[in-house]
Amino acid sequence: MNCELKRLQQSILKFSHFGKSENGGVTRLTLTQPDVDARTQLIQMMEEINLRVSIDDLGNIYGTYEGKEDLPPIILGSHGDSVEKGGNFDGILGILGAYEVVKVLHENQIRLRHPIVVADFTNEEGVRFGPAMFCSGVLAGVYEEQKIFFTKDRKGITFQSALEQSGFNGLVENRLKDGTAYLELHIEQGPVLEALNKNIGVVEGIVGMNCLEIIVRGQSNHAGTTPMQMRKDPLMAATHLIDRLNDFLRKVDEELVFTIGQFDIFPNLHTVIPDQVKFTFDVRHKSEDIIKKAMTIVEQEINNVEEKTGCAIFRRVLWERETVIFDNSIVDSVETSTTALGYSYKRMYSGAGHDAQFLAKMMPTGMIFVPSKEGKSHCEEEYTSIDSCTNGVNVLLQTVLDLDKKLN
Ligand SMILES: [Zn+2]
Repeated sequence: MNCELKRLQQSILKFSHFGKSENGGVTRLTLTQPDVDARTQLIQMMEEINLRVSIDDLGNIYGTYEGKEDLPPIILGSHGDSVEKGGNFDGILGILGAYEVVKVLHENQIRLRHPIVVADFTNEEGVRFGPAMFCSGVLAGVYEEQKIFFTKDRKGITFQSALEQSGFNGLVENRLKDGTAYLELHIEQGPVLEALNKNIGVVEGIVGMNCLEIIVRGQSNHAGTTPMQMRKDPLMAATHLIDRLNDFLRKVDEELVFTIGQFDIFPNLHTVIPDQVKFTFDVRHKSEDIIKKAMTIVEQEINNVEEKTGCAIFRRVLWERETVIFDNSIVDSVETSTTALGYSYKRMYSGAGHDAQFLAKMMPTGMIFVPSKEGKSHCEEEYTSIDSCTNGVNVLLQTVLDLDKKLN
C-alpha cells in the first residue's frame, strides 16, 4: 500500500495556485485571502473523505479519520502559510502528505486503532504575525495566548481580528490536547540530503539556537575632517569583531553555524562616521555545550574589541531555543519504515524551527525530511521532485502503520 504519485502531484499543483507569485512561488501569509482559499480547499478535501473537521480558536484546522479504538490520535501535520515569495513545498507538503496518507487508508477501507488527525497549524512562518510557530506554541503552553491574540501585523490588524475576518475563529475546546504521536513531513530546506544523495532525512531533533542583538556605539563625526587615528568608528569595530568571530567560531565544531542576518548602520550617511551599528548574531548547534562554548568566545571577543577600539558594545539575547530531541521510539520507527521501503537515508538534526518542536512538548514527536533542490527554501526556486515527495509520504504512511500497532 503506497501513496499515489499523480494525485499528490495534482494536489501540490492545486495549492500552488493559492497565492501564486510571479516566478512560480507563493505568497500565502497567515489568514490573507490566499491562505483562506487554501484552508477552504483543504476542508473541502477533508469532507470529501468524511473526515471530522474542527477548528480551534487559533485557527488550527484538524481533520479526524476515526479509529477503531478509543485512543488519543496520531497527528500528522504542518503549516499552510508561507513566507513572502516562498516556495510550493515548505509546510504545505506536510499537510498534503498527511492528507494523502488518510486518503490511501480511506480508499483501502482501512481503519486503524488510533484516530488519525490531519492538522494545519496557523502562522508557522511568523511573517504576518510574530513570533513564528505561535499557534503550536500556544497549544504547547510556550506562548501566552492573550499576547498572541493582540499581536498586530504591519497594518495594525490584530491576530484576533484577522481570525474573525477570515471566519476561521473556531472554538477553544477544539484545541489539540493530547496525542499518541505527532509526525511532520517537511522539505529539508538545506543542501545535505541532496549532496549525500539520500532519499530521506530521519530527523532526530531540532538544533538549539541563540540569537544575540549586538550594538556597537562609537562617535559620529565628519567623514572629511576627522583623522583616522582620532576616530571611534563603530562600523570598523563591528567588522573587526565579526572577522575575529568568523575565525574563532569556525574552529569550534564543523556543525556549528552562525549568521549575521540583519545589519543596520546609523545614521547611514556617506559623509558621516557612524555613531552606532546594530546587528544580529545567530548561533546554532545541536549540542548545548558547543553553543555555550561559542557564546563564551563571543563574550571574550566583545571584550577584546571594546578594549582595542574604545567603542562600547552591548548585547542582549533576542531569541533562544534549546535543542529539541525527538522521541527515540518515533525516530526509530521512521528509520525502520524508511529501510523497509528500500530508501536511503541520513539521521540528522533540523537547523530550522518547525511546529514539531512545540508539539514535542505535548507528545512523542518525529519528522521526516525530503531533499530540497540545491538546498533552496523560503524562495520561489524552492523545489522537491514529485518522486522525493512521494517517498516522503510513503515513509509517513509506513510510520503511521507501524506506530498504530506499537503505541497505545
Ligand atoms: Zn515550514
